Amino acid sequence: MALSTDSSTDRDSREKITIQNVSRSYESTQALDDVSFSVSEGEFCCVVGPSGCGKTTLLRAIAGLDDPDGGSILVGGDPVTGPGLDRGMVFQEYALFPWRTVRGNIRFGLDRPACDCPDCEGRVRELIDLVGLDGFEDAYPKELSGGMKQRVGIARALAPDPEILLMDEPFGSVDARTRDRLHAELLDIWTQTGQTVVFVTHDIDEAVTLADRVIVMNADPGTVQSTFSIDLEHPRERTARDFVDHVAQIRDELGSPVDTNH
Ligand code: ADP
Repeated sequence: MALSTDSSTDRDSREKITIQNVSRSYESTQALDDVSFSVSEGEFCCVVGPSGCGKTTLLRAIAGLDDPDGGSILVGGDPVTGPGLDRGMVFQEYALFPWRTVRGNIRFGLDRPACDCPDCEGRVRELIDLVGLDGFEDAYPKELSGGMKQRVGIARALAPDPEILLMDEPFGSVDARTRDRLHAELLDIWTQTGQTVVFVTHDIDEAVTLADRVIVMNADPGTVQSTFSIDLEHPRERTARDFVDHVAQIRDELGSPVDTNH
């Protein structure tokens, strides 16, 4: 295991997402300042940093939900000009439709919410199985736990089979045990689908549990400070020496604990 900052030379070099000199400001706040990095195809990349360092702004820009003031974002070599079915987004606060059932929320992800063709129904069924929600197809969000709601959010994002999964602190509101289970399930899904994942968190442990590579950001203005490769087999044991060393190194880099929002 190499505990080192990433030189990016020994990874798969097929770039899926290229972020070039991206800047975004809101009135007097420089949310992102000249941010550049790339994510390889099939890579699980976590972005960590303190609250306000621009993580959500960056993810929204990759999703095409926000337009940076400067720089460019390429997906598969093409500039992002808006949202697309090639990128699925999972939000921290679930963002489910309260008036739709589990099935209805997932179907919405197919971009054909009113369609009841056998293909759509089959795909929804497959996704319900994938995220372990059998028996809850007809439940409404208010009848579900936080972990179950986020399973629906993940299934909805996966529905159109996107090449890229963008996740904005998706497990920030669930209890620690559920989070551990969701981590394992997410890694299973990632292994099965081979998707490229960009996962935002302020929790260093979570980043080291999941990522091939961790991008560390700084606030005020939002910049990339450094990147770390995490060359550990899954499942990762949090008490293992290598794991603890990675967490300590990233924490040192940040200068102060970032997981203070819980
Ligand atoms: P993070 O996700 O790391 O907490 P954000 O991307 O949400 O950071 O925000 C980065 C900075 O930009 C923060 O200072 C935040 O207050 C500011 N910001 C984000 N969105 C807006 C907005 N719509 N209007 C004004 N300021 C914003």
